[in-house]
Amino acid sequence: MLSMAAPDSPSVTSASDRRRVSARVGGISESATLAVDAKAKALKAAGRPVIGFGAGEPDFPTPQPIVEAAAAACADPRNHRYTPAAGLPELREAVAAKTERDSGYRVQPNQVLITNGGKQAVYQAFASIVDPGDEVLLPAPYWTTYPEAIRLAGGVPVVVPTDESTGYLVSVEQLEAARTPRTKVLLFCSPSNPTGAVYPPEQVAEIGRWAVEHGIWVITDEIYEHLVYDDARHASMPVLVPELADTCLVLNGVAKTYAMTGWRVGWLIGPADVVKAATNLQSHLSSNVCNVAQRAALAAVSGPLDAVAEMRAAFDRRRRTMVEMLSAIPGVTCPTPKGAFYAYPSVKELIGKEIRGTTVESSAHLAELVLEHAEVAVVPGEAFGAPGYFRLSYALGDDDLVEGVRRMGELLREAR
Ligand code: PMP
Repeated sequence: MLSMAAPDSPSVTSASDRRRVSARVGGISESATLAVDAKAKALKAAGRPVIGFGAGEPDFPTPQPIVEAAAAACADPRNHRYTPAAGLPELREAVAAKTERDSGYRVQPNQVLITNGGKQAVYQAFASIVDPGDEVLLPAPYWTTYPEAIRLAGGVPVVVPTDESTGYLVSVEQLEAARTPRTKVLLFCSPSNPTGAVYPPEQVAEIGRWAVEHGIWVITDEIYEHLVYDDARHASMPVLVPELADTCLVLNGVAKTYAMTGWRVGWLIGPADVVKAATNLQSHLSSNVCNVAQRAALAAVSGPLDAVAEMRAAFDRRRRTMVEMLSAIPGVTCPTPKGAFYAYPSVKELIGKEIRGTTVESSAHLAELVLEHAEVAVVPGEAFGAPGYFRLSYALGDDDLVEGVRRMGELLREAR
């Protein structure tokens, strides 16, 4: 039977009336960090001596034994075929063993899902536990991908702002004030991108206990676990609060620890039923992660941590240089980051001032002026839900770092 709509019914729409891009996907904004990086690279390719502080990746090559494992994997026909969507069984096992070794969290291989980078783990984590209308507490400044992944899952990001006065750490009181009957999840990231903040273990435990008390899930992103400095230590929430394990998803990957951003291997760890559901999603979305990359990741997580120790020493040196140089610029306030490879200075005092005949309207506007006049690329705080700041990655060569901050400082000193 044909169903006939009335001539003036809103359901009668011609193809040209319809949105070309769905509302859901059309609402996603471009990754601001990747956009800044792309702009800096394009200007560089055009011959401009741009120094980029935008990239979120180590500037080191992947350690040779990992590369060799991948080369051997290429020649093995077993890796030329589809493999289980959840990941190579030996990699799931090795990730479970590595997790216990590094954070003390004991999990079974069937609680591990290997994903195409940590980013896919972020997306699948939200997709697997968030229903339309569920609220997700999202401390800001936050990594740009989280709110988009939450919204794609139909969730509502509830931003909980923090600032330099608390070292960008959210308190239980703030979380409690933002909690409603619709709160389903807390997103927790320590060490943090973009601020470099690392939560002390007592605060991690306090937040974990609060989540258990209120039946709130925690998605905890541990991708920078090995990049901590001074007296900071990474503490894994479900280790400190074991009762949380049944309502906790841990995200991680090889990108930052082994300088493997381009290999695209991450993982999601959680209760077996949620991991199974996330695996079902992945089986229709992307299937198994490239086997050659999985074999490389297997070599990485089963091998030593000496390469990350070397990188950490270099990052630590650059961190100190950067904080010292930024703090010397009038109008710039830079708390000392304790983890990851980012500094997150406030530039609020420069807003409203004049630089080269232009009144600075916002941190995004200031970042444009810095790119134009100092040929230095930074990511403005607008990208992280916290305007008034810049994020600068110190994962770049020492000489470029010094020259870039010097050039930016010279320009910012002109502010009147
Ligand atoms: N989580 C955080 C906090 C990150 O900064 C990143 C990378 N920028 C990721 C996850 C994802 O990393 P990848 O997809 O490269 O594994």
